[in-house]
Amino acid sequence: MIVKEAEFICSNTEVAKLPPANLPEYAFIGRSNVGKSSLINAMTGRKGLAKTSQKPGKTQLINHFLINKVWYLVDLPGYGFAQTSKKNRASWEKFIRDYLINRENLQCVFVLIDSRLEPQKIDLDFVYWLGEQGIPFQLIFTKADKQSIVKSDQNIAKFRRALKKWFEELPPFFLTSSETKLGCENILVNIDSINQQ
Ligand code: GDP
Repeated sequence: MIVKEAEFICSNTEVAKLPPANLPEYAFIGRSNVGKSSLINAMTGRKGLAKTSQKPGKTQLINHFLINKVWYLVDLPGYGFAQTSKKNRASWEKFIRDYLINRENLQCVFVLIDSRLEPQKIDLDFVYWLGEQGIPFQLIFTKADKQSIVKSDQNIAKFRRALKKWFEELPPFFLTSSETKLGCENILVNIDSINQQ
């Protein structure tokens, strides 16, 4: 898929104010600093579309971008940031969970995971929760250029092994780099094929 148009539509703090659910929607989420903004920019070929390297947890918004006038790319706030209060975290969780559970045009949640790290409890817990809710998801392992492919593959294998305890069938996964654009086209092709179904 070629991204011909990528248009910022709106930022929201309330599920009630989201754009009409009339197009297929794909959400991107992960721990703060996982490389989500960089990946969105690399995938769409628009440098400033999603803001990179913001102070972790500063903006807790749901951002909608319209791609090729056909589907919504949704940038969700990062989870697991340290510099926030318990109260903030609780309200973030409720907001995101409400969105993920209730958004009827949500086709798939892409969960971003840092390929340099061993499986992290916070990521596993989140993925497990998606599974429990029956929310379709796929995994994106980020920052592949920062280490050898062998090391990334080892961490991916560990993550998938950890998921095997809970899931009969494991979700598709992608290894990506925003620097080299590794995996970006594969994610877009995959979105295209879900849109065609
Ligand atoms: P976000 O908080 O998840 O949106 O993360 P950002 O996209 O802001 O990235 C956090 C930091 O990691 C920034 O300094 C990025 O330049 C860097 N980064 C993100 N993705 C990659 C990548 O694929 N390769 C490399 N080398 N650095 C990356």
